[in-house]
Amino acid sequence: MAEGNGAAATLITGSDFLMPPFTYTALPSKVTFGAGALGQLGAEISALGCRRALLLSTPEQAGTVEALRDTLGDLAVGVFTGAVMHTPVDVTAAAVRVATDLDADCLVSLGGGSTIGLGKAIALRTDLPQIAIPTTYAGSEATPILGQTENGVKTTQRTLKVLPEVILYDVDLTLTLPTAMTVTSAMNAMAHAAEGLYARDGNPVIAMIAEDGLRALARALPAIIAEPTDRDARSDALYGAWACGTTLGVVGMSLHHKLCHVLGGAFDLPHAETHTVVLPHAMAYNAAAAPQAMDRIARAIGAADAANGLFDLARSLNAPVSLASLGMPADGIDRAIELVLSAPYWNPEPLEETRLRRLLENAYSGARPELPA
Ligand code: NAD
Repeated sequence: MAEGNGAAATLITGSDFLMPPFTYTALPSKVTFGAGALGQLGAEISALGCRRALLLSTPEQAGTVEALRDTLGDLAVGVFTGAVMHTPVDVTAAAVRVATDLDADCLVSLGGGSTIGLGKAIALRTDLPQIAIPTTYAGSEATPILGQTENGVKTTQRTLKVLPEVILYDVDLTLTLPTAMTVTSAMNAMAHAAEGLYARDGNPVIAMIAEDGLRALARALPAIIAEPTDRDARSDALYGAWACGTTLGVVGMSLHHKLCHVLGGAFDLPHAETHTVVLPHAMAYNAAAAPQAMDRIARAIGAADAANGLFDLARSLNAPVSLASLGMPADGIDRAIELVLSAPYWNPEPLEETRLRRLLENAYSGARPELPA
């Protein structure tokens, strides 16, 4: 208790904290956050002991990395602008050849989850250090997770070999992110935090980070939609993306991520949009089994309950709310249930076919999430 200043102090008693045992493993990456952080790229490359960076991007962001190459001068040995969604192994193989031919000694991935995924896939095969410069809110930069696609099948692995050594968050790079993608990318991030709050290996450290990430994104999104170049709101959102990505990197995910993985893979649905549609329904499914997590989500987004709050947030931001609108076939529900149940993730609420069907029917049609009676 503080003493000596005469002010009344509150003694925190044992009854305020009923702390269960927990394990928390921090991830070894350096984060530099702030407007103009991109200007530190050269210093970060040198700090890694590197002199020959290969810059990565999608074709759409080629102009940005070409300009970056000019500013880096001799520190950049080349660019590879072929990153695409879901990290196909043939694209990775082509990029590895470029890295090898140029004798690159580090990777700089500027873009969203697709470009950062390519950097991770190259790092897995070459052990080259990575500097990630995220321009969406997907959160991949903060995780040791890599998803790759081969012959149409996406597999995921978790290994520290793919965790970027350095992340540079520069808000200026996010000002151009289209508003529709801003919303779905942020909801993708919020899904990491929401599931992290009821993770089986959850802990109080990551719960603080997850809740703060949800709060930052829920607060930032309406302001960004009103003014897409609002740098304060964009900074809040980028901080939220770091917090939510960090959550995904540290603890396991459950039904929501399983559903999105299955729907994306089986029906080729767009990644961030699928997360946006499914999230309120997955929260409703788990509401009774994870009441404390739901309270924290609701508190963070300023809603009476987590599931309806997330649904209303998506609707108020004109985000998609139905799987039908994303192109899921009407007869796909049976297949999705079969795939979810054939290799389930741990989930706080037991997985039951009837309830899963109801969840998917609601998500398919865009109905409000159905809380347990
Ligand atoms: P994305 O990286 O595919 O980007 C979508 C499009 O937006 C691209 O054309 C990109 O060039 C463009 N873009 C990105 N930032 C922009 C900006 N600021 N301004 C203008 N255009 C911009 O989209 P995403 O949602 O970030 O990434 C999705 C991929 O990331 C999926 O493959 C998903 O599986 C993966 N992901 C992986 C993890 C992980 O931890 N491994 C986490 C989240 C997502």
